Amino acid sequence: MSRRIISRAIALSMLAGPLTAQVPKPAANTAAMLASLEAGAAHYGEVAKQIWQFAEVGYMETKSSALLQSELRAAGFSITAGVAGEPTAFVAEYGNGAPVIAILGEYDALPGLSQAATPERSPISAGAPGHGCGHHLFGTASTAAAIALKQWMQANNVKGTLRMIGTPAEEGGAGKVYMVRDGLFNDVDAVIAWHPGDDNAVNGNMSMANISGKFRFRGLSSHAAAAPERGRSALDGVEVMNVMTNYLREHIPDGSRIHYVITNGGKAPNVVPDEAEVYYVARHQDMRIVNDIWERITNAARGAALGTGTTFELQLVGSVYSLLPNVTLAQVQQRALERVGGFTYTPEERAFALQLQNSTAFTKLPLEVTARVKPLMIDSTGAGALGGGSTDVGDVSWVVPTVQLSAATWVPGTAAHSWQAVAAGGMSIGAKGMMVAAKTMALTGADLFSSPATIATAKAELMRKRGADFRYSTALGTQKPQLDYRKGSVP
Ligand SMILES: [Zn+2]
Repeated sequence: MSRRIISRAIALSMLAGPLTAQVPKPAANTAAMLASLEAGAAHYGEVAKQIWQFAEVGYMETKSSALLQSELRAAGFSITAGVAGEPTAFVAEYGNGAPVIAILGEYDALPGLSQAATPERSPISAGAPGHGCGHHLFGTASTAAAIALKQWMQANNVKGTLRMIGTPAEEGGAGKVYMVRDGLFNDVDAVIAWHPGDDNAVNGNMSMANISGKFRFRGLSSHAAAAPERGRSALDGVEVMNVMTNYLREHIPDGSRIHYVITNGGKAPNVVPDEAEVYYVARHQDMRIVNDIWERITNAARGAALGTGTTFELQLVGSVYSLLPNVTLAQVQQRALERVGGFTYTPEERAFALQLQNSTAFTKLPLEVTARVKPLMIDSTGAGALGGGSTDVGDVSWVVPTVQLSAATWVPGTAAHSWQAVAAGGMSIGAKGMMVAAKTMALTGADLFSSPATIATAKAELMRKRGADFRYSTALGTQKPQLDYRKGSVP
């Protein structure tokens, strides 16, 4: 946490009093809903464990998506599978009319992070994918919340439409961006989501906007020693482009990030590579700055191709907006989270966590964090601290008022996208944290269904923040979801 963030947090906590005063009356008869989630905890733990074992990467989450759909179908939701050109996306719906409240659920894994549910590094299958971002818990908790909320709606004769939207390929595939672009959220009034984490908190933070894509260079192959003059190295194109973008770093706004990996660098040093590929991501909080940086990176590719006698084509992989926090909804979710509360470890979980914290590069934080709920970290302007990552929930948050929390599914101090996250996510710590999220989302949903005025206030806040001239558009233009973007990442 940077100093800037800490000082902001102090300023924010001083605002907590006046902000919470606007929260509407809690929904009635929610005790049974929470009890049903408690009773279902073991079952949902099993569902999450199965998805953890499937460990399917973006747009390949066939079994994970089918499992969540079957849970929702069995609970009486009607299912539309394969939406927005994404075969593993789905919409599960119950009820009709206004308001329309959607819960988001992700379920994609990350390449190369295979790891057993053990407190020391131990891949189940070397190089295979693993749930390093806890999305198996994400999709499962959202499903559990939707089912409990539906039962509450039925029992209390609540009007409105509840949707659970299964959103694939969050990790770099921009799955939700195509859904937003294709109008899937046009009639939605509020969106509830969460994300696995190492504490229990309503997320008032901004995230970074980004653009990502693969630059595929083509040259001419030839014998690297006998006829090098006849070759044109596609790898030279990639390397010269990288040199140019590395010089660019000094001349872009603070807070920008540029990262790349060479995904194809040729096959053998004695053959001039006729194909090479580099995969880039550029980020900044402000989408306009990202657009500018991306244009300059693309110019570096043009210059590199010209100078090395090669050509290139660009496959745009993803582009996401920053996350726009909604204070109105965050206050409702904060009260729900405070009612649910955190959880404590059993002696076995404690031993697991302490051993995990001994692994290299682990920032040890007190385990007691899991029992607490953080105060709402959002200021009166609605801009929280800036988180380092990006999420395609960002695009959703610019078109529908959106709220999300984090729950302590990981041992305090765990970095996302680490084997330690996979390990805790595959055992009871992850399952316990997931139920904090499920209960909080169900309660938040019940409160919103019970208070049309709150939804109206949340919408007005969104309109005010994004400005009168805002029109949603995405750098992805009219292209189809890149269903093969993870091709080659699974051994
Ligand atoms: Zn994630």
